[in-house]
Amino acid sequence: MHRLLERFFRYVSVDTQSAEDTGRTPSSAGQSVLGEMLQSELLAMGAIRVRRTAFGIVFAEIPPSPGCETAPVLGLIAHLDTSNAASGKNVRAKLVHYTGGTVKLGESGRFIAPEEHVGKTLVVTDGTTLLGADDKAGIAEIMTCADALLRGEVRHGKICIAFTPDEEIGEGTDHFDTGEFGADYAYTADGGRAGTIEYQNFNAAGAVIRFQGISIHPGSAFGKMRNAQHLAMAFHRTLPEKDTPEYSSGREGFFHLTGMKGDTGHAELRYILRDFEPDGLEKRKALLRKIVSDMNCQYGAGTAAAEIRDQYRNMEEVIRECPFLIRIAEAAAKKAGLKPEIELIRGGTDGAMLSWKGLPCPNLGTGGYNYHGETEFAVVEEMESACRMLEFLAESFARQRKTPEK
Ligand SMILES: [Zn+2]
Repeated sequence: MHRLLERFFRYVSVDTQSAEDTGRTPSSAGQSVLGEMLQSELLAMGAIRVRRTAFGIVFAEIPPSPGCETAPVLGLIAHLDTSNAASGKNVRAKLVHYTGGTVKLGESGRFIAPEEHVGKTLVVTDGTTLLGADDKAGIAEIMTCADALLRGEVRHGKICIAFTPDEEIGEGTDHFDTGEFGADYAYTADGGRAGTIEYQNFNAAGAVIRFQGISIHPGSAFGKMRNAQHLAMAFHRTLPEKDTPEYSSGREGFFHLTGMKGDTGHAELRYILRDFEPDGLEKRKALLRKIVSDMNCQYGAGTAAAEIRDQYRNMEEVIRECPFLIRIAEAAAKKAGLKPEIELIRGGTDGAMLSWKGLPCPNLGTGGYNYHGETEFAVVEEMESACRMLEFLAESFARQRKTPEK
């Protein structure tokens, strides 16, 4: 399995941090460097139809083992970029055999103490950068699995592979053509603890509420001024006080005030709305509209206005139609010696977007932890098991019929 680690170390050495608002896809040059690297490695392994799209997506295929041509086509997906919450430049990855207590990360003053991984081998940084296990652990695992399949070590149907840019800035699937990809079903390898299987995420919307005040010199304001900022505060106070991220967990949704600005004449509040239930999200949107309309009744038409747009949807509705995807992922996890655990995604994933584009796509754990920060680390044994889990998935896909039983 040293090839898995060798790959992982090679991929994290490329800085692929994505950048917002560049107007380009991929948004950073490093992602193309890694994309080209993967392209040539896939070719060298013997993958077919290896190509990179104009938007930097790497696609490749592994032809089916003889006799497995009619099996449903399995897609495996990971993302090239790393989060812009911490630097991804000059990543100094290092192996540590963890015997307990704290592990100092270089001279950075940062440390980790992951007691649940005593006896395991960790990959850590020097504490000045993120590691990039999100999602290069996923890429290394898919590449190592692809290698095993191409060597004929596992009987499998046709496999399609994709590595996508700019997932972390929410643009991972903007240019992803599911028809061009060619899979019937797929998994993203982009989760945390190996063995976790995720297919339930938020339904999401964003709202901008604008308030129109009446501005006038404060000295002559008596009975005339209407401060738009006071209207905004009154609006916010009408929302349920503890229906916010810091008071919500599990399947609970929330209203999250993400921005506010204003002066006497105008004010604006920005929210994100999240709810696992589609009806729940509709109720949240309706509540915002109701408060706006009540304010307009009280203060006159045009005082407040709501602009609400949907962002992404819970993939659970799609995955419920193909429960075998979860069933065989659980079986593959067990076979790889992992404890399968269904977890909720209190956010969205590329897989959620792809599921609603017609490619059902749950998410799998890769063995990485503490994503988006300098204390990020990966557990080598978990990465190895996650990789075997992908091989077992490929094997059991080969035994499925084209229209698998529900
Ligand atoms: Zn990720």
